[in-house]
Amino acid sequence: MKIAIDGPAGSGKSTVGAALAKRLNYLYFDTGVMYRAVTLAALQRNIPLKDEAAVSILAGQVLISVTAPAANETDGRQYTVQLDGVDATWDIRSGAVDANVSIPSAYPKVRWEMVRQQRRVAESSNIVMVGRDIGTVVLPDADLKIYLIASAEERARRRFEELHQRGNEADYAGILASLRQRDEIDSSRKTSPLKAAEDAIILDCTHLSPEETAEQAMALVAEKSN
Ligand code: C5P
Repeated sequence: MKIAIDGPAGSGKSTVGAALAKRLNYLYFDTGVMYRAVTLAALQRNIPLKDEAAVSILAGQVLISVTAPAANETDGRQYTVQLDGVDATWDIRSGAVDANVSIPSAYPKVRWEMVRQQRRVAESSNIVMVGRDIGTVVLPDADLKIYLIASAEERARRRFEELHQRGNEADYAGILASLRQRDEIDSSRKTSPLKAAEDAIILDCTHLSPEETAEQAMALVAEKSN
């Protein structure tokens, strides 16, 4: 089975996606990591994010690898992300990347390169793939498409808690503004905008715990498998 989970920033896609994959023993792949890695690479190399041609070339050059954490990586990571062989797992979650990631994500050539790699990953295995355009573009024939939503305030609150628990400075109003801005750019871009596929099931988890959301998602999987 191929399961696509899309939705706005911070709606809990990765938590639910990882939980489903674990329970089903499927591969879990969070595609946001790839757009974040390209953004980080551009920032590190001082490539202006508005330079579409340069960022597009960069997307075809950087080597992004996503693997299970090594035994000595006990800092709470779900997976290890390497950018050209260097650990970038936490750097791709920085405020600078959050604030800029929607810019490269809107470039058709960047998307083309990312989608090509994502389809290759999905080709040969059962997978739970999480992102913005999985049900609409990357895996339009996915067996189950879930579009996960939650109110912007609840999404910001969760992100705030997450940062706080990791010991990072967090500012609720700033997080809320950044989420809203990212959703606005992601939904209004011309290429593969954030939207529910016509055959996606909308799951609103504003008032659900992660466990309850995973339960509901598992029930949808069970329905599809019958
Ligand atoms: O899911 P996450 O918040 O990590 O995604 C970061 C950004 O990457 C999104 O705001 C969006 O701009 C981009 N993205 C995308 N398509 C995907 C996954 C992520 O455009 N499939």
